[in-house]
Amino acid sequence: MIRQKSFENDQPTLYLVATPIGNLGEMTPRAIEILKSVDVIAAEDTRNTMKLLSHFDIQTHCIAHHMHNEYESAKGLLTLLEEGKNVALVSDAGYPLISDPGQIVVSMVSEAGYNVVPISGANAALNALVASGLSAQPFMFVGFLKSGEQERRKTCLELSKIKQTLIFYEAPHRIRKTLELFLEVFGNRDICLAREITKKHEEFIRGTLSEVIDICDDLKGEMVIVMAGYNEEEAKDEIPFTVLNDAIKNYIEEGYSTKEAIKKVAKEHGLSKNEIYKQYHSC
Ligand code: SAM
Repeated sequence: MIRQKSFENDQPTLYLVATPIGNLGEMTPRAIEILKSVDVIAAEDTRNTMKLLSHFDIQTHCIAHHMHNEYESAKGLLTLLEEGKNVALVSDAGYPLISDPGQIVVSMVSEAGYNVVPISGANAALNALVASGLSAQPFMFVGFLKSGEQERRKTCLELSKIKQTLIFYEAPHRIRKTLELFLEVFGNRDICLAREITKKHEEFIRGTLSEVIDICDDLKGEMVIVMAGYNEEEAKDEIPFTVLNDAIKNYIEEGYSTKEAIKKVAKEHGLSKNEIYKQYHSC
């Protein structure tokens, strides 16, 4: 067991400094003070961090600490602490470690008995969660899904019976594929797609997965998906696609075109016609 009384010892410290996720007004005075006072700043991307540092007139020496050589780099940071230096770790935006580098160095440094001190600030996941309108607790932060199709599906299946609100990060070019996978695996759950948080074009889109899929091709910028957790009662009420397909076939038999039949069924069940169309034609 190691007890860390952060401000009652002379040990060197690794500060985990959160930085703004878009709006520079969210850089805290404490974060600036710490970044000015430490011996070294370790940054995910020194070019990005240098811009932040120059904006706040911070002249501390900045070195790289990125994901691809995280273990070696973490050992380097530990050596700095062993030499008695204080180090601040920052990522490009938000908290280090949260879908960003830092896990290895924090484990190493805390095990070695040095202080690890968080400096509060912005975080995309929590901002999205609290404004989502969905249950804020309990929640589970998933972050980015892995990139392989099989792995993504497997992870979703593992999450499909989790009752907590789920939080995902996603890139805009993958948003449609991801939401479609979610619809397939999780059913038509309520979500909030939060994008460009704290920036000029900040937007919160609250609706069902199929509703958001209908408009997602026009969405740009950084995104968080907050999704309602598994609800046994609602899951029971979900209409299986076989039932929808039968309804479509009935309308076609009555003389409607396939397109009209799909539109009617979508309207009756409050679902996306695009999604029903795709499902119908994949059967
Ligand atoms: N460390 C960051 C944090 O604490 O939130 C997350 C870094 S992760 C590499 C970047 C992802 O976070 C983006 O792809 C997006 O999903 C999310 N993100 C970051 N800034 C955002 C913003 N302003 N609005 C919405 N999502 C954001």
